[in-house]
Amino acid sequence: MKVLLIRPKPEKSTIGLQHVMICEPLELEYLVSNIPLNIKKNVKAVIYDFIVEKNDYIDILKFEEPDFIAFTGYITHVNTIKKMCKLAKETLKDVLTGVGGVHAEVVGGDFKCDYIDFIYTKNAVDGFNETLQGIIDKKDIQEIQEGIRVIEENEFNFNLIQPDRESVSRYRHKYYYMFHNPCALIKTSYGCPYNCSFCFCKEITKGKYHSRNMVDVVDELSSIDEKEIYIVDDDFLFGREKLLEFTSLLKERKIDKNFLVYGRADFIAENEDIIIKLKEVGLRAVIVGIESIREKDLLNYNKKTDLQINEKCIMILKNLDIELYATLILPMDFTKDDFRNLVKWLRGLDVTFVNLQPLTPLPGTEIFSDYKEDLLVSLEDYHLFDMAHVILRPYNMSNREYYYQILKSYYRIIIRPKHVIRLVRKYGLRENIKMLKGSQRVSLQYIMKILRG
Ligand code: SF4
Repeated sequence: MKVLLIRPKPEKSTIGLQHVMICEPLELEYLVSNIPLNIKKNVKAVIYDFIVEKNDYIDILKFEEPDFIAFTGYITHVNTIKKMCKLAKETLKDVLTGVGGVHAEVVGGDFKCDYIDFIYTKNAVDGFNETLQGIIDKKDIQEIQEGIRVIEENEFNFNLIQPDRESVSRYRHKYYYMFHNPCALIKTSYGCPYNCSFCFCKEITKGKYHSRNMVDVVDELSSIDEKEIYIVDDDFLFGREKLLEFTSLLKERKIDKNFLVYGRADFIAENEDIIIKLKEVGLRAVIVGIESIREKDLLNYNKKTDLQINEKCIMILKNLDIELYATLILPMDFTKDDFRNLVKWLRGLDVTFVNLQPLTPLPGTEIFSDYKEDLLVSLEDYHLFDMAHVILRPYNMSNREYYYQILKSYYRIIIRPKHVIRLVRKYGLRENIKMLKGSQRVSLQYIMKILRG
């Protein structure tokens, strides 16, 4: 039996980080490695990553003639996946289709259509394997659907076999994250112990948090060829003991990697000693949700941080020469003064990299119902829920002006002679030109928004 595992390309109008990063489809690699041996002997599973794949989708379908195609994707991929499933059904009479991924897990109903046979809303690895078994047993769709075990609200399977990175060997050299190039992904925990109101990640595990055994994590790290490692945990910097064990194991086993991780500002501010130890074993960059410089926003977001914590975190990372990738949420009541104040604050602290995200109430999050009525776009315009489009009406300026303020802020924060000199010295000219080209594409998308409104 032939199975294709597909990550689609985002739609052209989606504004996204895909211009400055392409990460490996780890979730598909987990599907491949976790197929039980008794099923594996009957199955050939091939991953197609359409972010980097050059061949045409229909040509691939005709060439591979799969029995089953499983897709992964975010909210921005919903319509693309539906279209691809429709095309698959039109091209191959008997092909079955399924979809998993984070959006399917939280808002699975969005994928309901005539062309998708299976939607994996929980523990996709198990559901996927049950589907394979059903197809091998020549059951019909309804029988297979009924055979997929119903999972209790709080029941998660966190015990997975390490991902099969070989399954994307032909694409691996293309995977990078900004200056981390080439870059591999690893997941060391599931869920997040915090409860920020806007957050989609915490909905995936319904507030549950599970950290993997550190020996197992370090074993996996030692098997990865790439030196640059992106730890894709929702919050890697959690638990002093865990992090101490992580650093000692890396030292003990002489594992030489560079790490990019997600972490909270309060942890960094309160645990400088741990950050120093992590730096010694390769911590190179941290993505921190700074979110806002206005206390009322931080309270609204239930972020449990404040301005002082954010400033302390930024200074600690700067003093240790650990790159900060700061993410900020732009509320809809922002005035030109608010944009100015934000830029002044970030420039004052010498923050180089920012991701300015207009407030986006993602379906499935706590804040979604509060803003549902204020949406400027249809709920079916999934590709616009990219955290970069303005999908709620700004209170104090036009949409165009709001886009203009975002673009201007980016330029005033990032494009500064001292930053350019520092970045060229640190990462070299070639990598900087690559980044510049990528960010110009994003700028162009914003300029079109300003021009077209
Ligand atoms: S925003 Fe970050 S810290 Fe807050 S709940 Fe989500 S993952 Fe956790």
